[in-house]
Amino acid sequence: MRVIRTIAEMQAICRTVHREDKTIGLVPTMGALHAGHLSLVRSARSQNDAVVVSIFVNPKQFGPNEDFGKYPRNFEQDCAMLDQTGVDFVFAPSAEEMYPEGGTTYVHVEGVSEKLDGRSRPGHFKGVTTVVAKLFHIIPADHAYFGQKDAAQVAVLRKMVRDQNFDIELVVCPIVREKDGLAMSSRNAYLNEAERKQALVLHRALLRIQTLADTGESNAATLAQVGREVIAEEPAAKLDYLEIVDSDTLDPIADIGKGALVAVAASIGSTRLIDNLVLHGAGSARGPQTSN
Ligand code: AMP
Repeated sequence: MRVIRTIAEMQAICRTVHREDKTIGLVPTMGALHAGHLSLVRSARSQNDAVVVSIFVNPKQFGPNEDFGKYPRNFEQDCAMLDQTGVDFVFAPSAEEMYPEGGTTYVHVEGVSEKLDGRSRPGHFKGVTTVVAKLFHIIPADHAYFGQKDAAQVAVLRKMVRDQNFDIELVVCPIVREKDGLAMSSRNAYLNEAERKQALVLHRALLRIQTLADTGESNAATLAQVGREVIAEEPAAKLDYLEIVDSDTLDPIADIGKGALVAVAASIGSTRLIDNLVLHGAGSARGPQTSN
């Protein structure tokens, strides 16, 4: 496994791989890797000749009062995990390499970028689409792997790929959870022991919604209300949103008959967590996995 620090070298490698008629799988990450990231890497490994994992804590997707400074960084450990998982290249540029002084070009997907996390975190998705578009130019992969964990991000990136004609297939991988149901996240490292237990309320709310949908309830407002009540039972949780939306447009829907995305964001102490559940229509919910 080779660690690549510069854009020029990464582009030269990709040109060589493609000249040999080999496929490239790209897994963009911000590091602090866990089993959720590794599931994306394994999918990439099984479907491509060469696998590139990018590790870049992207300053442009953090708001001024967010956790950019304290975001967990474990580069050595990340590399050991990726080496073991059969990765060929780790692309780990500096912020100066990715954003040299004077850059003024952004990629912004209007509309869908202002929904869910985009509403709570203004500018977040503009930062995400800008960096992912740059990564797609640097690493013109055949397949790029993203987690369903960040369902709104998936909707935004799908639209970016469509609108901008990126010749890259997005592959969305299921949410990997801890044994007790908590969705794996690099930010879970912020939680103390008590908060770690309190954080389970997000998964509990989704499970309650899934159970109710399984019994035939298809009214989105009713389902969302039940989910919000579950969150309210945990005094330590501060709900940001719990919404039932169309998984492509992220617009609210009235009825889950044709399928829906249930998305939740809440803070436990100072840690903001997100989770979601895809409902496949009235009476046929396929919910969060209960373990990995
Ligand atoms: P991040 O490093 O948090 O930017 O995540 C990099 C990629 O890993 C994103 O596509 C995430 O959606 C994905 N990911 C993060 N956590 C999980 C998880 N628990 N299960 C599946 N994918 C995940």
